[in-house]
Amino acid sequence: MSGTARRTALVTGAGSGIGRAIALRLASDGFATAVLDLNKESAAAVAEEARASGHEAIAVGGVDVCDRAQVNAAVEEVRGALGPVLVLVNNAGKTGFKDFLNITDDSWDHMMAVNLRGPFYCCQAVIPGMVDAGWGRIVNISSSSAQSGQQYMTHYVASKSGLVGLTKSLALEFGPAGITVNTVPPGFVDTPMLRGSEKRGLLGSKVEDIAAVTPVRRAGRPEDIAAACAFLVSDEAGYVTGQSIGVNGGRNT
Ligand code: NAP
Repeated sequence: MSGTARRTALVTGAGSGIGRAIALRLASDGFATAVLDLNKESAAAVAEEARASGHEAIAVGGVDVCDRAQVNAAVEEVRGALGPVLVLVNNAGKTGFKDFLNITDDSWDHMMAVNLRGPFYCCQAVIPGMVDAGWGRIVNISSSSAQSGQQYMTHYVASKSGLVGLTKSLALEFGPAGITVNTVPPGFVDTPMLRGSEKRGLLGSKVEDIAAVTPVRRAGRPEDIAAACAFLVSDEAGYVTGQSIGVNGGRNT
C-alpha cells in the first residue's frame, strides 16, 4: 500500500490455513483487517493474533458466506468498525471427493454455494463501497485443479472454474471504476484441508511423498499464497486485473 491511507480488508475463511495467513499478512502490511469465518472461535483467535502483533483487526465470526443476509450484515459490521471494505479476499472454501456418478444434488449445490455463490454475495456487498472510493481490490482464491481438472472432484473443480470466470468478468466490468479483480489458484498447500484429505487417503500418497516430486521440492505454505495476495491488493498491482496468478510450486504451468 502506498501513501498514508489506511484501508480495510476483509478475508473470508480466515480462521484457518490459507485465509489465516492472508489475514495476518494484510494486517501486518497495514490494512485494518476483518477476519471472517464460519467458525467463531478460530476467527476470534486469528484477529487476536494480529492485534497481539500490534495490528488492527477484528473478528467477524459465525458467518456463513452462503447466506446473503449474513454476508450483508457482516460487511455492514466491518464498515461500522473499520470503514468501507476496499480489499476483499474470497478464500472460504470447501473441498470434496466423490466419483462423478455418485455426486448428489445436495453435495453439488453445497459446493457451488460455498465456493461460488459465497464470493458472488461478498462481491455484491463490497463493490458499491469500492466504486464510491474509486479504488478496490478483489482476490478470489480458486484452485490449480481449475487449470488441470481433477478426477473425483468434479463438483469442486466446476465451482472453482466458475470462480475464474467470475474473476475475469468482474475485472472487465469494474476496471473503469478503479477496481482490480484477480484469482490466485493455489496447488498443494499444507493446510488443515490438505492434511484432512491425506488422512482420509484421498491424495493417493503422503504429503511428503508428493512434495518430493513437486518441481520446487516442497509443499506450499499458506504464506506463499498470502505473499501473492499482498502484491495483488497493493497499489503497484493496479495494472494487473483479470489474471490467474498460480502459486503451486510448478505443479501446474
Ligand atoms: P481450510 O484450512 O479448510 O480453511 C477454510 C476455512 O474456510 C475454514 O476456516 C472454514 O471453516 C471456512 N469456511 C468453510 N465454509 C465456510 C462458509 N460457508 N462460510 C465461511 N467460512 C467458511 O482450507 P485451506 O486449505 O486453507 O483452503 C483455503 C482456500 O484455498 C479454499 O477456498 C480452498 O478451496 C483453496 N485451495 C486450497 C488448496 C490447498 O492445497 N490447501 C488448494 C487449492 C485451493 P470450517 O473449518 O468451520 O469449515
